[in-house]
Amino acid sequence: MDFALSEEQQAIQQTFRRFADEAIAPQAKELDENPRFPAELFKQVGELGFFGMRYPEPEGSGLDVTSYILAVEELARGSLAVAAACTMQSLMGTYFVHKFATGDLRERLLLPALRGETIGTICMTEPNAGSDLGSIATRAVEKDGRYWLSGSKTWITSAPVADMFTVFAKTGDKKLSIFLVEKGAAGLEVGRSIDKLGVRASLTSEVGFDDTPATCLLGELHQGMGYLREILAEIRVMTAALAIGVARAAYEQALSYSAERQQFGRPINRFQLVSAHLADMAVDLEAARHLTSWAAWRSDQGLENAHEASMAKLFASEAATRVCDRASRVLGSYGYSNDYPVGRYLRDVRFTLIGGGTSEILRVNIARGLKA
Ligand SMILES: Cc1cc2nc3c(=O)[nH]c(=O)nc-3n(C[C@H](O)[C@H](O)[C@H](O)COP(=O)(O)OP(=O)(O)OC[C@H]3O[C@@H](n4cnc5c(N)ncnc54)[C@H](O)[C@@H]3O)c2cc1C
Repeated sequence: MDFALSEEQQAIQQTFRRFADEAIAPQAKELDENPRFPAELFKQVGELGFFGMRYPEPEGSGLDVTSYILAVEELARGSLAVAAACTMQSLMGTYFVHKFATGDLRERLLLPALRGETIGTICMTEPNAGSDLGSIATRAVEKDGRYWLSGSKTWITSAPVADMFTVFAKTGDKKLSIFLVEKGAAGLEVGRSIDKLGVRASLTSEVGFDDTPATCLLGELHQGMGYLREILAEIRVMTAALAIGVARAAYEQALSYSAERQQFGRPINRFQLVSAHLADMAVDLEAARHLTSWAAWRSDQGLENAHEASMAKLFASEAATRVCDRASRVLGSYGYSNDYPVGRYLRDVRFTLIGGGTSEILRVNIARGLKA
């Protein structure tokens, strides 16, 4: 069993770690306080090749899932909000366009998105369809050889700044299909940004379609759910890496703070109850990383990993939430103030309990996959 990273993977980890330390982390607090799309950072992440990592050459760089999640973890350690906006682009917001768009759409829409010059979204969730995507009500109707969409979506990451929308719509009884809609299309309306507890610089908003013409159908008609299942495991492994990244930031903060903070004449990390918090955080982090790396490794070996990805995402997001909570306790009142980033980590990390499937849905899926 070989746990070592290749030289190339180590170089990727170092590149994104340096970028997160030098460019992202210094802006994270201000972006949280004045939420806006982190346009400049997004472009720089594009220049580092992040958005094309998972796509084959020549459009992307054809790297494996293990390399990708190393980069994701480092971005999330700098800011979960920035990482959430970037992973939306590198995975869900461009995936179906990469898979199915043909001809000039690749040149016009895909390549600029992989460079970080334009922004993609995925529109699945609706006011009455969250975990239960089968109840999506947005409809697509074919008229004169074109599809027209009507309905409303919500919680759409990056929608206020988006150039393209990958939209799941109903095309028959319990049948979903995927459509591409471009900014400026008639009847397309991006609503207010949702004021969120965390990941505040990853903008989310409502999106309405009123007899909106789709640029094209992506893939085959009625196959939307099947196509979604193809990337669900990778979305979950990626979300696990997001959770690990923010938890690492919280852990590192607690470790250094507890070595410096003196109470009763000694650093607080000398108190057994504080060091127990640190030990539990370290164990949670390592366990989350091993489970996530294992799920990524299975994918890289071409092995089935839906079950493992669900386990990794469930464990990593719950463990990361525990780690951020413990970090806040170690910092005492400072963990409750906005002068330290731990409070933000605690707010941000809760996103990982929801995105990519809630913990409850994952438990249901995992239990279904268990064999006596
Ligand atoms: C920051 C953020 C960004 C997002 N970005 C996007 C995006 O870009 N595109 C997009 O389409 N969506 C996005 N979402 C939406 C996200 O995918 C949904 O919030 C998620 O699928 C859960 O749906 P819901 O919030 O409607 O909760 P619901 O499905 O209504 O669930 C409510 C509660 O009931 C539980 N529950 C539901 N069904 C079951 C069941 N069968 N068994 C047990 N428990 C159950 C859930 O676990 C949860 O605790 C985003 C969400 C957030 C928070």
